[in-house]
Amino acid sequence: MKATVTAWTQILARAAADISHPVNLMEVCGSHSMAVARSGLRALLPPNVKLLSGPGCPVCVSSASFIDQAIQLSRRGVKTAVFGDLLKIPGKLGKLRDESGLLVIYSPEEALDFARGNPRTETVLAAVGFEPTAAVGAAVLDAAVQENLANFSILSDFKHLRPVLDELASDPKTALNGFLLPGHVGSIIGATGYEGLSLPGVIAGFDPQNILHSLKLLLEMIARGECSVINNYPQLVADHGNRTALNMIGRYFTAADGEWRGLGSVPGGCWRIRPEYAAFDAARKYSLESETGDSAPAGCRCGDILRGYLAPEQCPLFDTVCTPEHPVGSCMVSNEGACAAAYHYRQVAI
Ligand code: SF4
Repeated sequence: MKATVTAWTQILARAAADISHPVNLMEVCGSHSMAVARSGLRALLPPNVKLLSGPGCPVCVSSASFIDQAIQLSRRGVKTAVFGDLLKIPGKLGKLRDESGLLVIYSPEEALDFARGNPRTETVLAAVGFEPTAAVGAAVLDAAVQENLANFSILSDFKHLRPVLDELASDPKTALNGFLLPGHVGSIIGATGYEGLSLPGVIAGFDPQNILHSLKLLLEMIARGECSVINNYPQLVADHGNRTALNMIGRYFTAADGEWRGLGSVPGGCWRIRPEYAAFDAARKYSLESETGDSAPAGCRCGDILRGYLAPEQCPLFDTVCTPEHPVGSCMVSNEGACAAAYHYRQVAI
């Protein structure tokens, strides 16, 4: 499968040769966004093929209402544990970086350890992520439940990826023809978790050779008029996924309608804590107010970018007033955001 840049250009051109229409592909994974930008893979695509970045970065799609709820907690004196990237994301009430007393963490377990070590301090893990992180969140919640850790709860903005793929697939404005599917989420939900999509998809790994091979497989499927899911990352993705992780997610979370930044409310698109564990659900425990709707800063086109309508470079603020040092919108905050990836590797030549 190892091939040179020239060889890959020819391989992809051959795979697309029998497709007479423009082809819009989308990757829905922040790690893919980074890998594609870092390796300059778009330069190898045939002229009629576009690879768009979708809403695959969990920080980018964290809702404004979630940020506002975390701010409410912090203002009530609750020790609120957040990942560092969330500090720069705008809510309607402001940004978390302007609040005091936060606990900045690198893993959900750190919030649990803090609650254990400080039993008189109300502690909330404000959590974002897709199924792999939701599984860790469920394991943390399981430990808290087993230990009856009364001062610990979770504010969940965990996202359920599959419903948003269905929504993107049926968007006539993007007119997608296929998905490069995320291997990390696949490692939890399995290849079967992607079955039934209305567009062809290939589950891809993260090294450039695997991504290019996955694009070739995807183009060949489109050329044949097939619509199925190919697992091109069997090293990590089993047919039926990780049963232990899926059971843990299912025990503590239920899929519910919820906001994705830039996309609005996605039916079944968020993992919420089950009612029987309400004592560990920060939104219920603290009766947090939730106002839906985005709060995109003026001029920011993150919504259009997350839906694949625009490339980051088409936003007028890109690399002018919006940079990773001074991000305006969520897509420039995390390294895995489409705008940050495009910014960091804008000079990459293959
Ligand atoms: S470049 Fe900045 S302002 Fe423009 S869409 Fe991206 S994050 Fe938003």
